[in-house]
Amino acid sequence: MNTPTNAALFERAQKVIPGGVNSPVRAFRAVGGTPRFIARAQGPYIFDAEGTRYIDYIGSWGPMILGHGHPAVLEAVQKAAVDGFSFGAPTEREVELAEEILSLVPSMDQVRLVSSGTEAAMSALRLARGATGRSKIIKFEGCYHGHADALLVKAGSGLATFGHPTSAGVPAEVVQHTLVLEYNNVAQIEEAFALHGDGIACVMIEPIAGNMNFVRASVPFIKRLRELCTQHGAMLVFDEVMTGFRVALGSAQSIYAKAIPGFEPDISVFGKVIGGGMPLAAFGAKRAVMQQLAPLGPVYQAGTLSGNPIATACGLATLREIRKPGYFDALSASTRSVLDGLLASAREAGVPMVGDCEGGMFGFFFASELPTTYAAVMATDKEFFNRFFHAMLDRGVYFAPAMYEAGFVSSAHTPDDLRATAAAALDAFRALR
Ligand SMILES: *Cc1c(COP(=O)(O)O)cnc(C)c1O
Repeated sequence: MNTPTNAALFERAQKVIPGGVNSPVRAFRAVGGTPRFIARAQGPYIFDAEGTRYIDYIGSWGPMILGHGHPAVLEAVQKAAVDGFSFGAPTEREVELAEEILSLVPSMDQVRLVSSGTEAAMSALRLARGATGRSKIIKFEGCYHGHADALLVKAGSGLATFGHPTSAGVPAEVVQHTLVLEYNNVAQIEEAFALHGDGIACVMIEPIAGNMNFVRASVPFIKRLRELCTQHGAMLVFDEVMTGFRVALGSAQSIYAKAIPGFEPDISVFGKVIGGGMPLAAFGAKRAVMQQLAPLGPVYQAGTLSGNPIATACGLATLREIRKPGYFDALSASTRSVLDGLLASAREAGVPMVGDCEGGMFGFFFASELPTTYAAVMATDKEFFNRFFHAMLDRGVYFAPAMYEAGFVSSAHTPDDLRATAAAALDAFRALR
């Protein structure tokens, strides 16, 4: 049998799937070229349809923190599959996973399991609105919270005007309660609360924004958000779909709690790592808030496949690995080492590059200083990133195919992989200069 090429598969895919992909970024539109069709993966590597091997720094956009095909996870999933795919009735494993998540994130008393980050963020939003009886929400430019209508919004022209839909098919009325502010801008958030404080249900934020590459919310910004939310009776929602169990065992909120004594968000949203590569996500809060949900309270939320037995087995096995002593220290050291290697290669080749990392997540920019807002991210050298992306792909290293995405390291990446990445980068930079 002939093995099909990536190009042939892409052509075939475009006939039957819009753009040839089931999620837009996979199409390589930002960087150009032909997407690789992945045939299989093992440890830190993915292999495309043509048999080419790549060191994987996407990790399915975050979930594959243990690398691909981790034996303990594989075994858990295989066992669960034999016992049944889905029952539409409660299982012990859902309770175990909820207990496991809650033991690692003390800001929550209860969680509800769902099937995607979009669903979790959308449900958290409804819960915040239901629990406060308010409509207005604040989000930040450059943060992505899934594709629920109310969250697909770009900034309005001023603080008194609410946003405009970023997608066709979202009526203006649906986003009329969504205010979009600049990330890390304390003055704007103060002004917004002064204007709308008693109508704001929640402020939703990616505490480390991974959907504009890698941009941290500053400690003073998070501290002020917390104060304003508390003062005005609004809920602070941490969207940790990407950062959860990825930047630290206690997620990003544990990092801010170290800098801000007693800090807790009101609602937290998880996904990606907690499913270990299976469709699973969650949102949680204190008991009084979570009890607003059906069947106990008036906020409706449901899902046929929620708490799926195979997904929960996968997530549980993943969390049990990452909570082993020393796991995060080793992962953080690997991530630091990849980033340092890339930066050293750039320096050697005379390419201006900056970067940042936390736990198993990193970002780099072709710029002279780290951006702190979406506008600053947009001002970094995108054209050079696109050329670098392809140069690295040609050298067997797979970064996310867009400048606006974070990178992910797994515990399966070996020192050899990390060194090979830095060497490929030096070679690529020299070729591009
Ligand atoms: C990936 C992501 C989502 C959406 O999750 P899906 O599972 O893709 O629906 C929401 N919020 C953040 C911060 C994410 O990174």
